[in-house]
Parts: sequence; structure tokens; C-alpha cells
Amino acid sequence: MKTERAAESVENRSARLSSLDQNHVLHPWAVLDEFAETGPILVDKGDGCYVTDINGKRYFDAIGGLWCVNVGYGRREISEAAARQMNQLPFYSPFVSHGTPPAAELAGRLAEIAPGNLNHVFFTTGGSTANDTAIRLIQNYNYRRGLPEKHHIISRRDAYHGSTYLSIQLIGKDPDKVGFRFDVPWVHFVDGPNLYRRQEGTTEEEWLDILARRFEEKILEVGPDKIAAFFTEPVQAAGGVKLAPDGYHVKLARICKKYDILWVSDEVVTGFGRLGHWFAVKEVFGVQPDIITCAKGLTSGYAPLGAAIISDKIHEVLAQPADQMLSNGFTYGGHPVSCAVALANMEILEREKIFRNVLTVGPYFLEKMQTLMDLPLVGDVRGIGMVQCIEFVKDKASKELLPEAVDVGDRIVKQCMKRGAMVRPIAHLNVISPPLIMTVQQVDEFALIMRDSILAVAKKLKEEGAIQSID
Ligand code: PLP
Repeated sequence: MKTERAAESVENRSARLSSLDQNHVLHPWAVLDEFAETGPILVDKGDGCYVTDINGKRYFDAIGGLWCVNVGYGRREISEAAARQMNQLPFYSPFVSHGTPPAAELAGRLAEIAPGNLNHVFFTTGGSTANDTAIRLIQNYNYRRGLPEKHHIISRRDAYHGSTYLSIQLIGKDPDKVGFRFDVPWVHFVDGPNLYRRQEGTTEEEWLDILARRFEEKILEVGPDKIAAFFTEPVQAAGGVKLAPDGYHVKLARICKKYDILWVSDEVVTGFGRLGHWFAVKEVFGVQPDIITCAKGLTSGYAPLGAAIISDKIHEVLAQPADQMLSNGFTYGGHPVSCAVALANMEILEREKIFRNVLTVGPYFLEKMQTLMDLPLVGDVRGIGMVQCIEFVKDKASKELLPEAVDVGDRIVKQCMKRGAMVRPIAHLNVISPPLIMTVQQVDEFALIMRDSILAVAKKLKEEGAIQSID
């Protein structure tokens, strides 16, 4: 069998594995009937900012894996750190009082880089379990303070915080909720910041005032004695890279402080350099959070790992004598191999001054992408650091969308793939989150691919009568 496989042609291997995938893998967020027709795109190799599919076609990976391969592909230093740890100790329990040296080392590093007195790290397996953990610790914190009713959470429309039953309750994207149970009565939603589609006729400042007023009204409606925490992504990522008006975070944080509401900064996407800093909430947006959750860039996706980093203030309460366990945890939370990988990854981020690259190439990238605004269909190009989004519209003035069936985001992505770039479609959006090592030359090449791809789709849409003109 082994020798047969070694001699297998590229075509046969591709057909065999595609068929296995199509018949047996259930892909997250797939539309299963469509997938049954289109089949998978199997990615086989990676180097730097590029990946190669199973047929040997190479792409610039503007998805960065899934907003996570921050240091790029093919880092031997990381794979060797993983192998060393596997040989020395592949696994040991993190429960109760057991632990491993890499987890201890990494917790110390995270306490160093997290802002303020966020000194205590609960390791998880990824971003969803980090947010689950944050919710559970917050509820236990208030329970131990004698405030068991103060366990409600405020989240925002367009938010994404994960896909476990608990974390997905905080999701603010309605299409993702169809056909599943969302009946937790202690999660409440307020508007997302969404500058591009802000209330018509308002300036950025007025929009900020409206958002702040609605936020405070929601707290008063539910009751400040009930609201425990406000969950935020510094920049709403999967919801469409929604940027907030200037001063938004500081203004809402003041309101949280007034009502004793904890600020949870979900930095699963924005952490580990995507915005040019270890974390964004304090450095970029000026808010000291009570909890940071992170995953993805923590290991650059080389191994699964997440963390909820909590403040001294919360820890003090959780650690009070109460004869009560911290009943939360995952067998593979803080897996020693993943922790060794995270340490090697952080060393690369630091040694190669990768944040500096984000802070210099990032603004150029945005400027270059914003030149696409002269094209048909392009309603908005927004972003910060190494995360961006193009929002496609039928009509730029009214911001009217094309019918869903046109699937404009996906059609543009298919054109990009033809031209050698992976981009992520989310409905009428394309989101872009390349490895943080992207160069100026790669920016230029990618911008050209985007331009040609958008033009090709616009031409086709004109032929189909879906848009009037492409001038
Ligand atoms: N939080 C944010 C902001 C995310 O974007 C994601 C995933 O994309 C998650 C949480 C969930 O992380 P994971 O998929 O690792 O569970």
C-alpha cells in the first residue's frame, strides 16, 4: 500500500483525497449541498506567505490560514520546538496542581506582555474555549462576591466569539443562528460599531454618541445589578472587519466602569501582532481590559491553543477561601507541545521585529487596497494593521447590496484563486488577513490580483444585467 501511494500520480492523489474529503469530512460553516457539488480545496504545503494546493498550484495566502499564521509557513524553529517537546514529554494533565514547564514558562510570558495587572492565565484549546472560560470565570467571580444575579453578558451585533454552545451565544451574526438553539436569556445585544453603515446622516462623532447612549440604555434596561461583562473584539473581524468611531472603546469602557461591568477583550484575531502589538485593546484603543482572550496568533496556528488572561482583581476573588473548585478545564488546555510552539512563535515575532513590519507595511497595504475604490462594486475598503475588508455593493451611493444569490464575495474569490491568491469570502465581503511578514512587493502583486478579479466579476455581472455599468 505504502509503495503504491509513493508512486501515485499527482492527479490520482488529488482525485482520491478530494473524494475522501467530500464523502467523509464535515467542514465547519460549509453549505453542504453546494459542497457536494464543488468539493474541497485541499491545501498541501506552505512556505512564507504562500500555500500550495494538492494539484501543485501555489497561492499567496491572504487569509493567513484563518487569521492565524502570523509568522508565515515553514518555520523549522517552531516544528523543531514541537518535536523536542514531544520527545521529552508529549502530554501531562494540567488539572488541579499538575502542570508542565512549557505551560509555566508561557504563562509567565503572557503575564509580562498583557497590559496592566492581567497576570493569571487559564489555558484552553482555542478561541471558543477561551471565551467559554471567560464567561464561566466571570460568573463564578460574581457568585463569590455574593452577586449571583450579576451574570448577564452584553455582546454586539456582528460579533463573533466562537462556536461552542456557550461562546456562540455571543455571536451577533443572525444568518449563523438559523436552525440552532439560541435561547440563553442572559445574553443581550447592542449595535456593533459599523462605521460604514452607520445611521444615515450622522457624523462619526454623532454615531459614537448614539452607540454610547444605546449601550447605557441597554444596561439600564436589563439592570446594572445583572450585567457582569461586555465582550468586545477590538476590531470586529469575522463580522466584516468593522471599525469603530474614534474614541469608542474609551467611551464605552467609562460606562462599564460606572456600572461595575467587566471589559473582556477578545483578541483571538487582533492579538500577537495583527494590529502591530502583542494586544490591541490598550496599545491601540486605550482601554485597560479585565480579561483578554486569545488563540490563533499565539501559536501562529502551528498547534491548537488558547488562553483567558485575567486580572489580579478577578483572581483575588476566585482565590478567596470558599471550599469551592474552579470547575472549568480541558484535557488539552495548555498542551505542552502547543505551549512550546507558542514560545518559539513569540520568539520569532520578537526577534524579527514583525510588529514593526505590520506598522510600516500595514498602512501602505491599506492605502494600496483603497485605490480599488475607483472600481465598480467596491463600496468600502477598510482595515487596520494586517486585517482588511472589501465590501461589495450594487450601488455605491445608496450602498445597496447585490442579491444574495449573486454571491459576489465568492465569485471574486474564485477569480483571485485563478490568479494565485487565497481570499476569504463572507457573504458580500472579502476579508484579508495575510501573514504579518507580507512585503511591499507582495502588497503590490496582491492589489493587482484583486483589481483584475473585481473587474472580471463586474464585467460578467454587467453581461448578466445585475449591474448597469462598470464605468
Ligand atoms: N473569537 C474571535 C474574535 C474569532 O475570530 C474566533 C475565530 O475565528 C474565535 C473567537 C473562536 O476561535 P476558535 O475557532 O479557535 O475556537
